[in-house]
Amino acid sequence: MSHAAAPVQRLDFGRASVFFGAKSGKYPDGNQVLIRGSDTLAAFDTPLVSNHIGAEFDATELVLMGHVHEDHMAGLHRLPQAQVHVHEADLQAVRSWGGLLKAIGMEDGELAAQVLTKLQQEFFYAPRPDAQGYADAAVWDLGQTRVRAFHMPGHTAGHTVLLIEPEGIAFIGDIDLTGFGPYYGDASSSLGDFRRTLKRLPDIPANIWVTSHHRGVYTDRTLFLRDLAAFEAKLDEREQKLLKQLGESPRTLDQLADQGLLYPAGYDSPWARNIEIRSIEQHLAELLEQQRIACDDQGRYRSS
Ligand SMILES: [Zn+2]
Repeated sequence: MSHAAAPVQRLDFGRASVFFGAKSGKYPDGNQVLIRGSDTLAAFDTPLVSNHIGAEFDATELVLMGHVHEDHMAGLHRLPQAQVHVHEADLQAVRSWGGLLKAIGMEDGELAAQVLTKLQQEFFYAPRPDAQGYADAAVWDLGQTRVRAFHMPGHTAGHTVLLIEPEGIAFIGDIDLTGFGPYYGDASSSLGDFRRTLKRLPDIPANIWVTSHHRGVYTDRTLFLRDLAAFEAKLDEREQKLLKQLGESPRTLDQLADQGLLYPAGYDSPWARNIEIRSIEQHLAELLEQQRIACDDQGRYRSS
């Protein structure tokens, strides 16, 4: 038995439209932004929902990627003729599978082969060797509307906020303000950069904020700032969790990863362990730098 697909929910703001993925774009889906310039039809990223929009998405001539991850590339296979622009720090990740593996920090091998199959089956994964790089402050004139790039790294090295002018819509991508909190578990991620990005985000001259996942659209600055503060507070929560564990007894990085900082203990994902390790390592490096913890020659961390 088949069901007719429900139409994709959308909100329109001048020449821009936001199409909502399932559950307001909760991962693995995402929210799709389209901009109808008088000269150029542009899209921000291409989440799974882009496969259900139809002719309006399929006419896209220019894809501006806010960053490169599989769930943001899921509609690129529909647009072989479109130009794809990516911040230069994420460019290799979109161009080839090897580049994506390097960015996420996964060795090529059996696990990588499994992941590739999963991405092809669930995200229509197809790299774009033809993609072109852009730099911070790049501007695209689409005709009667334009887009400006604000490089906001941390989630990935090239993560960028894309501002639609004059509408004042900021696509903030995977600074997604979800309850999970910031993700900085890839080889190309940076906790320090993410902290600076979160401080700078309110300065972007926007009055509408669109997240890739779950939250969707904010039209109220007070609510946006409230959720941004809660998102940022997850960093302190994680730091406190580590300090508490080290206060109980000295622990190695492996032992801390066993406890789980981000995911519940026993969370079943073949790559969660590496994400835990990389995330915890970055917090430990900050705490060592601030002399709030020490590390002995056995690799055991303790409170100081
Ligand atoms: Zn992402």
